[in-house]
Amino acid sequence: MQQNVDVLVSEVGPRDGLQSIRSIMPLEAKKAWISAEAAAGVREMEVGSFVPAKLLPQLADTAEVVAHALGIAGLTVAVLVPNFRGAQAAVAAGVNKITIPFSASDTHLQKNVRRTPEEMLRETREIVALLRTIPAARRPRLEAGISTAFGCSYEGVIPADKVVRLAETLMEVGCDEVGLSDTTGYANPRQVKDLTIRVRQAVGERALAGLHLHNTRGLGLANVLAGLEVGIRTFDSSLGGLGGCPWAPGASGNVVTEDLVFMLDAMGVATGIDLDRLLAVRKILQDALPQEDVYGFVPEAGLPLGYRQRVGSPCQS
Ligand code: ZN
Repeated sequence: MQQNVDVLVSEVGPRDGLQSIRSIMPLEAKKAWISAEAAAGVREMEVGSFVPAKLLPQLADTAEVVAHALGIAGLTVAVLVPNFRGAQAAVAAGVNKITIPFSASDTHLQKNVRRTPEEMLRETREIVALLRTIPAARRPRLEAGISTAFGCSYEGVIPADKVVRLAETLMEVGCDEVGLSDTTGYANPRQVKDLTIRVRQAVGERALAGLHLHNTRGLGLANVLAGLEVGIRTFDSSLGGLGGCPWAPGASGNVVTEDLVFMLDAMGVATGIDLDRLLAVRKILQDALPQEDVYGFVPEAGLPLGYRQRVGSPCQS
């Protein structure tokens, strides 16, 4: 019973969230989390990253997590890969979508994936070539996530022209789409609108599908709304705001999935997600990661009185 969805909420917690914390979530808890969130109506999840286990032991079981997630009907299973080797592993695992992190900031790119822009572009071409050997029906979609698109904590301002040029180049070398990531939480709503419009003018509307926004300075949902107003229909977020390097006390790094779904739901924007069931998934996270901070205004405050009568309940409970 696939209902129509206005906005795709793409859950990145099992990758972005878990890679940023010290605790290692047991495989069984990851599986339970993914299953429960999919059952609540989430249709796309970034479930892991194919990187050496010694670099990110938190994600060492990505192949097993992918195998589990692929068994869930209707779920788009995405992973992040930093290089060609990671892409090979992702292909072997049979994922539906691969995201490569390509920083607009040369310094951040070097620190994140230890490559110059030229080297990373070569790697991207190799990944495209690998994917083209796979029959189209089974080929994973390739998204280049342009990190630090709205500013960099090493370089400061990243000129919009540079981001636009990078998006054009990434589409030219054969990526299926690009996304803009506010890795550092520097973005403001006006900037989100301006850059989204400029990148879409350069590469086409369909080529820029999604935004990955952070709440580091409290503007996460304001930035989502700005993106929504200029036509973006996919937003990344993380259950409990897990991960995304939260530097500001009290603020999550990643946009909190529960708060994002509440905002959209309250505005009458269909996400296909049952908010009550989504809120219940937090328990899995809290039980499996008792030492970690879990964020979210809506889970803390509860739903407004009379909310269900006003918005309508998608489930009978
Ligand atoms: Zn993030």
